[in-house]
Amino acid sequence: MTQATRDTGGTTAAQVPAGAPKGQGEVLDVRRTTCVVIGGGPGGAVLALLLARKGVDVTLLEAHPDFDREFRGDTLHPSVMEIMAELGLADRLLRIRHSKIKTATIQTASGPFTPVDLSRLKTRFPYITILPQTKFLEFITEEASRYPNFRLVMGARVRELIEEGGVVRGVRYEREGGKHEVRAVLTVGADGRGSRVRKLAGFEPKKTSPPMDVLWFRLPREKGDPEGLVGQFGRGHIAVMLDRDDHWQCGYVIPKGTFPELRHEGMGELKRQFAELVPAFAGRLDHLAHWSQVSLLSVESSRCERWYGPGLLLIGDAAHVMSPVAGVGINYAIQDAAAAANLLTGPLKESQARLADLDTKYLAAVQRRREWPTRIIQRAQSVVQRRVLASALRSSEPFSPPLALRLLPRIPILRDLPGRLIAFGIWPVHVKKYRTS
Ligand SMILES: Cc1cc2nc3c(=O)[nH]c(=O)nc-3n(C[C@H](O)[C@H](O)[C@H](O)COP(=O)(O)OP(=O)(O)OC[C@H]3O[C@@H](n4cnc5c(N)ncnc54)[C@H](O)[C@@H]3O)c2cc1C
Repeated sequence: MTQATRDTGGTTAAQVPAGAPKGQGEVLDVRRTTCVVIGGGPGGAVLALLLARKGVDVTLLEAHPDFDREFRGDTLHPSVMEIMAELGLADRLLRIRHSKIKTATIQTASGPFTPVDLSRLKTRFPYITILPQTKFLEFITEEASRYPNFRLVMGARVRELIEEGGVVRGVRYEREGGKHEVRAVLTVGADGRGSRVRKLAGFEPKKTSPPMDVLWFRLPREKGDPEGLVGQFGRGHIAVMLDRDDHWQCGYVIPKGTFPELRHEGMGELKRQFAELVPAFAGRLDHLAHWSQVSLLSVESSRCERWYGPGLLLIGDAAHVMSPVAGVGINYAIQDAAAAANLLTGPLKESQARLADLDTKYLAAVQRRREWPTRIIQRAQSVVQRRVLASALRSSEPFSPPLALRLLPRIPILRDLPGRLIAFGIWPVHVKKYRTS
C-alpha cells in the first residue's frame, strides 16, 4: 500500500489547494476528484477499484478506521467470482483462506432435502465462496491502491452533502475531529442500509417487513460433520449453518422483534432452543457463554424509488436492502458497482476532461440496468419469507416443505433454477476484459 493513496495521518498544508475557502474556518482542506464514493463496503470498494483502473480520479471515504467486521456477509456468489475473474483477480483472491458451499440441504420431518445444488452450474466457480469480508475489502482496496488516481481515506465520516444550484458537488466529512471537504463531479452513496447520503439527499426507501430476525454465532466444527450449508426446520424454529472450514457460522431465525424477550430469558434459553432444534450441536453449545458472541441481524428489505439525482448516485444497500434469504446482499451491491462502472466510466472521463457536469441520463441508466433484477429477487425473497419461513416460524407442527419446492429437484429442466437464481441473480453484470496497456 502506498502512502500516496491511503490517508492514515492528519492533513498537511500540501493538501490544501490554493484558493480553499478562507471563510469556512472549520474546513481543514478541500480536495477535488472526479468521483467520491462514500462507504468502503463491498459496493463502494469495488466501484472505486473499477473506476480507478479505468483512469478515473476516485476518492473512497470509509467511516471506520479499518475493515474489521464480524458476521457481515462473507458470501461471494459465482456472479461476483466471475467479475473477479474478468478483472484478473480471481486466482489471487482464492489464495486467501476460504471455504466453498456447493449445496444447501434442509433437514425436514421427512428427512434431508436439497433444493439448491450449484455444482452442476456451467461456471468456473460452481460454488459460493465464503471468505471473510474484512479480507475481501482489504484485498480490493489494496488492489485499487496500485493506481495513483485512487485515494482511500479511512476514519472519514461523511456528515454533509455539498449542494449548489440543486446539484450535489461532493461531501464534507469529519476525521479525527477535523472537517474536510471533497468536491466531485459525482458523489456515490455506498454507505449501507442506514445510508447518511440517502437521508441527506432526501430519498426515502420503501420498506417491507420480513417476518424474522436472525441471531448469528459461531460453533466449532467436529469430525464427521456434513459440509456445505445446512438448514434445520423445527416446530416454530429455523437454523441455518454455514460451513466455514474450521467452524460453523450458525444463524438462528426468530420471529421479528422477539430478541429482547429471548435475551431477557437468558443465554440458557437460546442454547436450550438451539439444542432442541439441532440435537447434533447440543454438545458444543458450551462455547457460547456471552451475548457478545451473538450478533443480531434485524432483517430488512427495502428499495428507493429513485437511486440518483443531479451529481448523486446510490448503490448497494443504500439503494436497496436485500432480505438475507439466499444471502445475495453483497452480490447485488457488487453487481451495482460493476454496472455503474460500465455505464459511467466514459461519461466521467469526459466530465473530468471538460470540467463539465455529468448528465443525469447516465445515472438513470444505472438504475434502469439494476432496478429490475433487484425487484425480481426481492419479490422471490418475499414469497419464500411468507410461504416458507413465516409459516415455519408460526407452526407448532414439524416442518414439511411446500409441494412445489419438494418437486423441484425431481424435474430436470427446473432443478437448477434455484441454484442459478442464487448464483447469478437475474441479468448478471459483466465487466469488460482488463487490458494492462
Ligand atoms: C449481520 C449481517 C449478516 C449478513 N450476511 C450476509 C450474507 O451472508 N451474504 C450477503 O450477501 N449479505 C449479507 N448481509 C448483507 C450484506 O452485508 C450487505 O448487503 C452488503 O454488505 C451491502 O454492501 P454495501 O457496500 O452496499 O454496504 P455495506 O457493506 O453496509 O457498507 C457500507 C459502508 O459504508 C460505511 N459508512 C456508513 N456511513 C458512512 C458515512 N457517513 N461516511 C463514510 N462511510 C460510511 C460503513 O462503515 C460501511 O463500511 C449481511 C448483513 C448483516 C448486517
